[in-house]
Amino acid sequence: MIGVLALQGNYSKHIEILDKLKISSCEVRYNNQLDEINGLIIPGGESTTMTDIMSRNNFYDKIQLFSQTKPILGTCAGLIMMAKSVLDKRVRPLEILDIEVDRNAYGRQIHSFVNKLPIKLEKDLETISVPFIRAPQITKVGKNVEIISNYNKNPVAVKSGIHMGLSFHPELNNITIFHDFVFIKQFNSKTYAA
Ligand code: GLN
Repeated sequence: MIGVLALQGNYSKHIEILDKLKISSCEVRYNNQLDEINGLIIPGGESTTMTDIMSRNNFYDKIQLFSQTKPILGTCAGLIMMAKSVLDKRVRPLEILDIEVDRNAYGRQIHSFVNKLPIKLEKDLETISVPFIRAPQITKVGKNVEIISNYNKNPVAVKSGIHMGLSFHPELNNITIFHDFVFIKQFNSKTYAA
């Protein structure tokens, strides 16, 4: 079972993607639910608000401990929350991915569709079309972080150990490859997420 952090933001589209992949899922609202899931999605939304709700509900230690053994996929604000450092100090990140992130760096209300983003997840290079919505820019990448896609020479998708962070929203374009990779394929298993 994969949990989608449902404190704030756009979590329901992730549940739909997991449904498409036949992965059972639940909405995570309390930190003790982390004991019952095999993977976590941190969705898009507003990272300052997420900081506030996660602090008040004691999610930080629980998610950090969870990340030592179980995979986390973050999209947009989720990527910001997974970073090691965020330029905007109102956000307290989880320090799961060794990256530095600049919020809203692609423009405040810019909502741009990017075509032909090259993605290298496994052996093959794929091209996908995904929306960036007030997206964060990844401004520094640590040495253990693998870049799986760049847009205009900036990294927009990264992987570190079993975790992945994306500055865009694959779930809004019904793209399943990232969820499939993080929760199933990287473990060579059909049952991991069941
Ligand atoms: N700009 C938002 C933030 O800083 C992220 C936007 C999104 O998740 N689509 O938290």
